[in-house]
Amino acid sequence: MKIIELLDKANDTQISYEIIPPKRGSSAHQIMKIVAELVEYEPPFIDVTSHSAQVYYEEMQDGKWRRHVKRKRPGTLGLCAAIKHRYNIEPVPHLLCSGFSREETEDALIELNYLGIQNILALRGDGHEGKHPSPDRSVNAYAVDLVDQVACMNQGHFLEDIIDGTPTDFCVGVAGYPEKHFEAPNLSWDILNLKRKVDAGADYIVTQMFFDNNRYFNFVKKCRDIGITVPIIPGLKVFTSKKQLQSLPSRFFLEIPEALAAEVEEAKPEHVVDIGVEWAYRQAEGLLNSDIPCIHFYIIQKTDVVKKVVGRLRGVKPSATQVAI
Ligand code: FAD
Repeated sequence: MKIIELLDKANDTQISYEIIPPKRGSSAHQIMKIVAELVEYEPPFIDVTSHSAQVYYEEMQDGKWRRHVKRKRPGTLGLCAAIKHRYNIEPVPHLLCSGFSREETEDALIELNYLGIQNILALRGDGHEGKHPSPDRSVNAYAVDLVDQVACMNQGHFLEDIIDGTPTDFCVGVAGYPEKHFEAPNLSWDILNLKRKVDAGADYIVTQMFFDNNRYFNFVKKCRDIGITVPIIPGLKVFTSKKQLQSLPSRFFLEIPEALAAEVEEAKPEHVVDIGVEWAYRQAEGLLNSDIPCIHFYIIQKTDVVKKVVGRLRGVKPSATQVAI
């Protein structure tokens, strides 16, 4: 089922999750265990991140450097198929412009269509900004171009001039940034580009994580003011370690509120998780009180802290029983 239909049908605020595929060479056991643990929380959907190839250099014995291009975390599509067909939960694969040609993207969308996966999150990705693709590669430069490619397939227009193919029926989510995207000169400018994604066919928005709900409410208001009407799902992350005081702002270009930063700074390292859980719980409670369709939790690799927050929201304790995977 499409995410927008799921949200439309739900009687109360839904809670969704995002996971990350394991590194190349690792088994999928741990990540499928995480999915199995989430089943008891009845997620309407689970996002699976995507990772483009990265360049790295290896020093050879003769002192020369060898260039490698490798995807560290493949497996997005396979995990999505397993989530859908083993657990009957709607998976949302992330699709990137960066690192993929339009032809590869079309192939991925055909695979997803055959697997019965109807939802995708369309993203630009990072690392290829400002570089011109080689003449033999057609590449989506911005997320809006990827949304447009999916919208064309939804009308039966494929690449290679197939204009009367069988239309696909994808529901498309896109990213939004309550504290603006790091490249955008200001929030209004960024929101105009967000509107272009919605006008191109995006059905809903998921936000970057934020730790101050006012940022989200201000962002939603600005979006509504310029005519964005689709659901805007807030993304939350549970703060878990002192080093995140620097790593989250530098990686995601967001602010940690003074009160949270001060509390974390004064705490013993082993107490930071409790502070993070309490903060995320209060943030989620505030959001639940303001009539939003869904809250999206970034889990990345561990469920325990998110389960503490969601368990409290739902009034259930996380079960300690083993889950079959
Ligand atoms: P875009 O919407 O293309 O915007 C990028 C920048 O370009 C913005 O500053 C925008 O204002 C500007 N812009 C947009 N259109 C134009 C235009 N036509 N002309 C000029 N400027 C323009 N990254 C991954 O690699 N894998 C993931 O799985 C992943 N998942 C994510 C999930 C969420 C919910 C979020 C919020 C981010 C995720 N990211 C992921 C990170 C994302 O790829 C980066 O933030 C990336 O830098 C921007 O992606 P975007 O889709 O928002 O880009």
